[in-house]
Amino acid sequence: MTRIAFIGLGNMGSGMAANQAKAGREVVAFDLSAEALARAKEQGMTPAASAGEAVKDVDVVITMLPAGQHVRDVYEQAILPNARKDALLIDCSTVDVDSARTVNRDASMQGFRAADAPVSGGTAAAQGGTLTFMVGCREQDFAEVEDALKPMAKAIIRAGDSGTGQAAKICNNMLLGISMIGTCEAFALAESLGLDAQKFFDIASKASGQCWSLTSYCPWPGPVPAAPSNRDYEGGFAAAMMLKDLKLAQEAADSSGAPTPLGGAAEALYEELVGRGFGGKDFSFILQMLRGRT
Ligand code: NAD
Repeated sequence: MTRIAFIGLGNMGSGMAANQAKAGREVVAFDLSAEALARAKEQGMTPAASAGEAVKDVDVVITMLPAGQHVRDVYEQAILPNARKDALLIDCSTVDVDSARTVNRDASMQGFRAADAPVSGGTAAAQGGTLTFMVGCREQDFAEVEDALKPMAKAIIRAGDSGTGQAAKICNNMLLGISMIGTCEAFALAESLGLDAQKFFDIASKASGQCWSLTSYCPWPGPVPAAPSNRDYEGGFAAAMMLKDLKLAQEAADSSGAPTPLGGAAEALYEELVGRGFGGKDFSFILQMLRGRT
């Protein structure tokens, strides 16, 4: 049976690790939170006393941590010194491309196979096992990475070598942030022009303005019942998380010299929304800031 160490049992990691256990894999779990560890035990996982302890005798190590610094620290202090050299190391957190490449390079220098595999899909997809994984790894390691991720996934796509999974993730989320703001501006303008929001939705969703932010995640309450806009913008993908990803995209644009003027504008608008105290709201709540309702 595949033995998996899962480190980081937060909003995303708890559901992902549970799906590994449900698939019949033996999961050794670790998180700094005692509450998260107790929940993991209830779900059939073996709680470990430390990250170093968790990775000692497993085939696969999966990390789902907040940001680059956490991943670099856990790799350097716990995983690389303690894991078996034949273990496959997969980081699913969203981090900067440089951190992903650094940990992958350090791991390969010590003889490990490593992959960056950030996800698209929120906590519902993490719980439902329907995440999309964007993978950066060597071609010859991909089949094994795919097999390890399968119980948590709807789709697993190899983007290229080390770091390209993170590159795909931040490019996608920059596009999402920009398209959400564009959708919100269009609703706000429609309102000022006396155009009914539902009518605008009916027309734009069948016209060239159609996009995912409009038809699957509509920021105006009503037209898409499952969207967070109908639940007072609670749950979903937090504005603070979107800001984190937009910052990563801008950092990457600065270091690579790519021009991203709309990405920069989107970052500034989300910075303002989070600065006004709405970082916990779903990112589509930016509609209300643009309407002057914050
Ligand atoms: P979270 O803050 O809920 O969970 C992170 C967990 O890591 C926490 O339980 C924390 O205690 C634990 N942790 C921190 N440092 C640790 C350490 N040194 N050792 C062990 N555990 C440690 O965050 P989340 O929402 O689960 O997100 C995790 C990652 O997934 C982030 O990189 C995020 O950007 C990305 N992501 C989140 C979503 C989402 O909708 N929440 C969607 C896609 C991607």
